[in-house]
Amino acid sequence: MLTHFIGGTRVAGGSAFPVRDPVTGAEIDQVYDADPEVVDRAVRAAREAAPGWAALPVGERAGWLRRLADGIEARFDDLVAAEAADTGKPLEAARTLDIPRSVLNFRTFAEIAAQRPDEAFHLPGALSYTVRRPLGVVAVIVPWNLPFLLMTWKLAPALAAGNTVVVKPSEYTPCSAALFAEICEEVELPPGVVNVIFGSGPAGQLLVEHPSVDGVTFTGSTRTGQTIMRTVADRVRPVSFELGGKNAGVVFADCDLGRAIDGTVRSVFTNGGQVCLCTERLYVEQPIFEEFCAVLAGRAQIVEPQPMISAEHRERVLSYYALARSEGAKVLTGGGVPSFGDARDGGYFVEPTVVSGLSEWSRFNREEIFGPVCHVAPFTTESQAVDLANSTEYGLAATVWTSDLDRAHRVAQRLEAGLVWVNTWYLRDLRTPFGGGKLSGTGREGGTRSLDFYSQPTTITIKLEQPDA
Ligand code: NDP
Repeated sequence: MLTHFIGGTRVAGGSAFPVRDPVTGAEIDQVYDADPEVVDRAVRAAREAAPGWAALPVGERAGWLRRLADGIEARFDDLVAAEAADTGKPLEAARTLDIPRSVLNFRTFAEIAAQRPDEAFHLPGALSYTVRRPLGVVAVIVPWNLPFLLMTWKLAPALAAGNTVVVKPSEYTPCSAALFAEICEEVELPPGVVNVIFGSGPAGQLLVEHPSVDGVTFTGSTRTGQTIMRTVADRVRPVSFELGGKNAGVVFADCDLGRAIDGTVRSVFTNGGQVCLCTERLYVEQPIFEEFCAVLAGRAQIVEPQPMISAEHRERVLSYYALARSEGAKVLTGGGVPSFGDARDGGYFVEPTVVSGLSEWSRFNREEIFGPVCHVAPFTTESQAVDLANSTEYGLAATVWTSDLDRAHRVAQRLEAGLVWVNTWYLRDLRTPFGGGKLSGTGREGGTRSLDFYSQPTTITIKLEQPDA
């Protein structure tokens, strides 16, 4: 049974619910669903620890971040196993991406925070400088697709900037956060600096509406982001939102076709399509459209399927497969549920799917699906490609495949997305701004921008009297 971690101790509280393995549907653990008392206790523990943590010199906080990174490395295999069991992703993915990236989150933000220079402005007869204070208690709410990676991506800069935190992972993926609580104990992090509560959406709602929470950082769906924004509006608390996407890939006929296909297969099907950066709309220049569709559909048939996170999410993805048909799509491959003849038939799999023939205004092409599926449409001019890619209410990511350098810059700069990749996908340095516009979120995290969000500046101006001549 997984228990909450509050003020450095294990706390039971709330009703219990099962955690399931998406590969087989079997129960793997039980976890508590935080009730109002648990949430209040966690926020109070964070509040109590806040002054001491904020008062530490930034170099000392950076030292704690490095100790947490060491602690994660010491429990590397346990974390890999927990992440794979919770999400259904291959062990290899957790081993090569999720857990190493989480270590890097702590190490990178330790460096950035410790080395960040203060700002000073010399005015005529005066000096202005800024000091940055932490927000205080930060609520960290994260989804199930990359649970540990996304949790640490927010935790590390929040702690580096001097905040204490209350984290709520998704109800579907509590196990790596439970291990992280153990790591906090193992490295003897001061009690109350990190608090972990488990639970479903209503527990998250209780957390963000708690009057003692000073800021909310959230990664998840646009709908939940909208609810959170309304919740914190009365108290005008800062929010950072990394929300959904309906990302476009634009493939020009002058591209290196092999690279474009390989990259597109990754960008559509990685993690079963359950990455906010995955491509769901593809626009391919007319001369290579038929060939591209045929090769992509063939490659989709040999993608190793990864389960959806839950039975409910599988039903949701399947409802979009049905929607595609009812809107008149041509299904190039997939569209159903695979059969394995083993325990995986109890899991939450869907077939990797490629469809075409729908307009950009169809519901299928407007709503985020978050599964291993894309729609492919042809275009004839560069301008048309840009207009089609931008014909979405989302603004998170886009990918361009071309061998023409001028075109690469021209198109990338016209795409309405927070992140544009050219001839690659998913490549990212933690110092670069990350996030999207329109329905995909507000604000950017990454590098010093994260530290900006998790702190607030005070500008101090001192008059410098000139001595009498
Ligand atoms: P949800 O919005 O359903 O949930 C995200 C988190 O919020 C979960 O911990 C959830 O708890 C919690 N939550 C639900 N309701 C509330 C509420 N009213 N108040 C506070 N917290 C609440 O998203 P998913 O977990 O389904 O994740 C998939 C979504 O995340 C996709 O839309 C995807 O695009 C987006 N995403 C965006 C990324 C980005 O960087 N832009 C990166 C990764 C994912 P519970 O799970 O228990 O319901």
